[in-house]
Amino acid sequence: MNINNTFTQLENFGHSLKASSYRIQINRSEDIYEAFQLAKKLGLKVTARGTGISYNDASLNGGGIVLDMSAMNQIQEWDPASGLVRCESGVTLEQLWQRVESDGWWSPVVSGTMKTTLGGCLAANIHGKNNFQVGPIGEHVVEFTAMTPTGALVTCSPKKNADLFYALISGLGMLGVFTLITLRMKRIFSGLISVDAWHVPNLNRHLSGLLEHAPDHDYIVGWLDTTAKGIGLGRGQIHAARQLNEGEDPHAQKTVRLENQHLPDRIFGVMPKSLLHYFMNPFLNNLGVWGVNTAKYITALRDHTFRQSHAEFHFLLDYVPDWERSFGRGGLIQYQSFLPKETAEDVWREMIQLSQRSRLPSYLGVTKRHRPDKFLLTHGVDGFSLALDFKVTDKNRVMLRRMLQEFDRIALEGGGRFYFAKNSETSAESTRRFLGDETIAKFKKLKKRCDPNGLLESDLYRRIFQ
Ligand SMILES: Cc1cc2nc3c(=O)[nH]c(=O)nc-3n(C[C@H](O)[C@H](O)[C@H](O)COP(=O)(O)OP(=O)(O)OC[C@H]3O[C@@H](n4cnc5c(N)ncnc54)[C@H](O)[C@@H]3O)c2cc1C
Repeated sequence: MNINNTFTQLENFGHSLKASSYRIQINRSEDIYEAFQLAKKLGLKVTARGTGISYNDASLNGGGIVLDMSAMNQIQEWDPASGLVRCESGVTLEQLWQRVESDGWWSPVVSGTMKTTLGGCLAANIHGKNNFQVGPIGEHVVEFTAMTPTGALVTCSPKKNADLFYALISGLGMLGVFTLITLRMKRIFSGLISVDAWHVPNLNRHLSGLLEHAPDHDYIVGWLDTTAKGIGLGRGQIHAARQLNEGEDPHAQKTVRLENQHLPDRIFGVMPKSLLHYFMNPFLNNLGVWGVNTAKYITALRDHTFRQSHAEFHFLLDYVPDWERSFGRGGLIQYQSFLPKETAEDVWREMIQLSQRSRLPSYLGVTKRHRPDKFLLTHGVDGFSLALDFKVTDKNRVMLRRMLQEFDRIALEGGGRFYFAKNSETSAESTRRFLGDETIAKFKKLKKRCDPNGLLESDLYRRIFQ
């Protein structure tokens, strides 16, 4: 293995962070071992990368080696009788659902995009719109195998090597590289789900709506108008969905078929989706976003119930390819905080008001309902999350950074937690305050055991742990 001619610039999802690294394509587990050996010889650090679409620096490694895992993408075994699927870690959620759905199964947890790899999903321990019901993806992993930098292939399950199981999942790729993953899929009885949509006039009704309606639904998610002020602050729309029961969809055989799940190629049946981000660009400024949000809220006033395919409901963000390009040259970052249900309203009121006063409004706000979980670097809480997208420009970069660090302070005072696949500004001190010394010591002890020479490091790891 050699790294000549592999030095290349990589970016985060929002094109706002860049780092140049030696990018090595991994085709089989042995390549990972060779890459570790090479890194040790050259004194370089190593980061695994799936699709590379974390919102932050999780899969960036300036000056080091990046292992491109996307070619290890075989679904090795799928058993429609038991719902168990064994995949290489570069398999994407898109490959997964497209393989299992026509047999009447669906992935128990998915992210808002289907482009993520299973390795990336386990390393971040992703949550879906059903986090309050089924927990993060790690709770649906039956077993995985990972290679640690010592070259050991470890197989872990909730019973076997349980300490590593609960730490590698959520461990940001810093303890080992996932090679094989066995997941348990979830049964579905139709290709459609039933969605209730209703508007909420302020933050209090928004959060109480999520809280009260979550138990009767499988999924819940809110859109929050980040530009509304005064009594309308926090207004928006909630979508709560439930899977159809057996027999509820008379055409179930047909609706689960792949051709009935694809996202439409054209918007309004006319405009190719691939061109849409050019038309979005002129609206992505403070005034334009206020106009779009206000118009969206007015259309949301009509409460209604409808049926949608699984792909349409879950992967709304994939409707417009390259939508993040519409944020312009500086790109975008996302800030997501997780707050206990008792403090969320006050904390987010303060954050939203601060962003409006600073003239740095978020352009998109999304809320979800969560519950705690047992993983070591967990972001789970008995409460809610709010994800806020911010446009980055040369002019606002420093102010934005300061404001988001202030957000961290406000969130921590409210007992908040952060998600390491999203925030770009969270410091080592804020990380220590939210994870606690005991958890960090436990993580570092496991790191010493799995990675005695400290080969696995990413820009994110250096930011939050050093
Ligand atoms: C549009 C959009 C919507 C999203 N919606 C959600 C959502 O609803 N819920 C949610 O939880 N997240 C969401 N995310 C975040 C996303 O799910 C995570 O960032 C995920 O980790 C990205 O997967 P990836 O394959 O691109 O991983 P990368 O970005 O390539 O890597 C992420 C982390 O995983 C590690 N890693 C990657 N592969 C491996 C491997 N084989 N072994 C060990 N470590 C590995 C990397 O080192 C890094 O730390 C969203 C992201 C986008 C862009």
